[in-house]
Amino acid sequence: MERLDIEKKLKKELDKERYRHTLGVMYTAASLAMAYGVSMEQAMYAGLLHDCAKCIPNHEKLKLCKKHKIPVSKMEESNPFLLHAKLGAYLAQENYGVKDKEVLHAIQVHTTGEPGMGILDKIIYIADYIEPNREKAPDLNEVRRLAFQDLDQAMVKILSDTLDYLKKGGGDLDPLTLKTYHYFTNQ
Ligand code: FE
Ligand code: FE
Repeated sequence: MERLDIEKKLKKELDKERYRHTLGVMYTAASLAMAYGVSMEQAMYAGLLHDCAKCIPNHEKLKLCKKHKIPVSKMEESNPFLLHAKLGAYLAQENYGVKDKEVLHAIQVHTTGEPGMGILDKIIYIADYIEPNREKAPDLNEVRRLAFQDLDQAMVKILSDTLDYLKKGGGDLDPLTLKTYHYFTNQ
């Protein structure tokens, strides 16, 4: 599908705020792609579609995953919102015609990251966190500056802030987030 057609379809699938965030991630990912000399096209498609499954009701997410044989962990079973990444990658392929494996992978790992993640994966993970409509995370100015200086340092900062937030009761911790943090800090 053309990017513009995807935008139109997403506008119907997502609530207002999520759509606004989606465009923010798309353009932030495009800027990071410019800064790091990777494909802007890939970054924009991945940014645009990263949350395409976000506004599906949780019980529906679980149902869809089971229907399409997407594996659901215990953690995801009790926190179905986590599934929007995997399910999003599936829907990007099936409903939005994305064939690019790197784009699909970036969507798939955008919530937890993953050890060994590639540059496009990092760009989407970071863009999701720093896009201009975000305001709640600590030290956002610093993370935003870091993002355009060093992707790996930005990853460490975001992951450690995310772990802190979750430890303080912000939600359940997906073990993959911790593994990703250890990957970037070599612990
Ligand atoms: Fe997301
Ligand atoms: Fe997002």
